[in-house]
Amino acid sequence: MKKVAASVYVETGFRGCNASLVVTGEGVVMIDTPQVPAEARQWRDEITRHGEVVYLINTEPHGDHYSGNMFFGGTVVGHEGTREAIRTATVKQLEDMLRRVAPESLPLEKGFRFRPPTITLSQRLTLHLGDHTFRLINLPGHSPYQVAVFVPEERVVFTGDNVVNGTPPFMHQALPFEWLKTLDYLEKLEVDVIVPGHGEPCDQSYLPTMKATVRKWIDAVAAAIKQGMSLEEAQEKVAVIDLADERARMIQRMNIGHLYEVLKATPAR
Ligand SMILES: [Zn+2]
Repeated sequence: MKKVAASVYVETGFRGCNASLVVTGEGVVMIDTPQVPAEARQWRDEITRHGEVVYLINTEPHGDHYSGNMFFGGTVVGHEGTREAIRTATVKQLEDMLRRVAPESLPLEKGFRFRPPTITLSQRLTLHLGDHTFRLINLPGHSPYQVAVFVPEERVVFTGDNVVNGTPPFMHQALPFEWLKTLDYLEKLEVDVIVPGHGEPCDQSYLPTMKATVRKWIDAVAAAIKQGMSLEEAQEKVAVIDLADERARMIQRMNIGHLYEVLKATPAR
């Protein structure tokens, strides 16, 4: 666990997303949860030392960010679309994921369940706890339902996977042009620290790199469409990342599959 601001801690080492907490004078606010049950329990033990969890905020509708929710207390807060995704997720999907990343965690314990948000937002929501303010802002990009958590007192923003550091972005549910605008918005926030969905915490100097990455995917797929490639050809021939392993090839097929559809409907800007 790393301390990234006076009252903000981040763990980047779990097999899933970054898990974070802000310690306020009236309890703890968590941002996202580990998807591997053993790591969620370990995280719960560490958090207990800082106080009781009052709010648990999920930044996005993907399983690697919310599957550990049941191991923690507090009221779960997230986007309406994230609530819907969690309500319709199946435990089998999580088991398939864990079979790949943490097979030793199967079978899941009896009574395992997902815990969806009971407070939801569509655009903005502000929570106050102790002397801290948590500004939840829907910033579409990686998915339509991304929620950034801006804590002005700590000059920190938690972005979910709208920012990823050192790992390729997943674009299967992306709104690519909105994503670029979201990165512009993040550039203007008064923060010293950005906690990305995955990878090391960074600052605003990383945002041009992130923007260039999103742009690179858009441009590559737009060029393939312009050349008249079919979706299958594009997935076969366009290489945006180093296709060294099966995971990279999976990301490639997934991202191009979705972007091809989006860009066919809305030509590149
Ligand atoms: Zn995600």
